[in-house]
Amino acid sequence: MITDIYSPLQELKYTGPVRLWVKRDDLIDPYISGNKWRKLKYVMARAIALNKLHLVTFGGAYSNHLLATAAAAARSGLKATAFVRGEVVENEMLLLCRLYGMKLIFSSREAYKNKRALFDSIFKEDPNAYFIDEGGASPEAVKGCAEIINELPPDVDHLFCAAGTGTTAAGLLKGIQQQKRNLQLHVVPVLKGGDFIAGEIYNYTRSVEQLHLHTDYHFGGYAKTPPELLHFMRNFTSEQGILLDPVYTAKLFYAMYDLIKKGHFSENSRIVALHTGGLLGLLGKKEELARIL
Ligand SMILES: *Cc1c(COP(=O)(O)O)cnc(C)c1O
Repeated sequence: MITDIYSPLQELKYTGPVRLWVKRDDLIDPYISGNKWRKLKYVMARAIALNKLHLVTFGGAYSNHLLATAAAAARSGLKATAFVRGEVVENEMLLLCRLYGMKLIFSSREAYKNKRALFDSIFKEDPNAYFIDEGGASPEAVKGCAEIINELPPDVDHLFCAAGTGTTAAGLLKGIQQQKRNLQLHVVPVLKGGDFIAGEIYNYTRSVEQLHLHTDYHFGGYAKTPPELLHFMRNFTSEQGILLDPVYTAKLFYAMYDLIKKGHFSENSRIVALHTGGLLGLLGKKEELARIL
């Protein structure tokens, strides 16, 4: 098992009224990417403690969570199976999952709606199988993400993160509360109608003080990547030498720069963006990227 994790903090080149850093969780591992490792760490520890050596989980065909689970399971000597949402497809992500030894079971969108029933349909009597929800969502995942706050310097004023389910954001807010940090958390949902994220976070933290939700940066919805976003991504990467993924972190960084430009932050604010990794998401946007590059 990988136990020690730590990622560097890198200052961005920026000539404005604030200072910007990136918490490089994308550097934790290329395949067990960023927040997916933070989320899996205690989930896997629990599975091992219960002597369940077969991880069973769920995700879409380009899910960073599936690849992270496949790679982390292989390194820890665990078996892994994934139910993949939708019709049978092949892509680079699933190829890597298979290389790591993960077994893939494609499931209709209808069947996928009830994950427990899917799990039970094959693993009900299997004492080794351990159910891990889509994206790893669980109290253990929140605990793992809360640890990110320990790694931030004490004088950070604002922390930004992208949200899909909001589990990572819940962990960050929990860490902020537990450590009584004077730090504002800015969450950028990458899907349309992201207001529900506040409720998801509240379920874990019971308080949403210090939370700021910025719901206008979904660019049309989950995995929607219009040219404006891809242009931003290319400019950022060529200027800073840091890759972003089009589904999560490109929207996050776009939002952060836009809010700074709109005067959202006082002068000399110290702002950190959490880079949650997921860079193989670039492979899912090959055609769109080719059109703008
Ligand atoms: C999964 C993922 C997220 C979203 O995390 P949640 O905990 O579901 O909100 C953010 N960034 C990247 C790169 C991801 O892969």
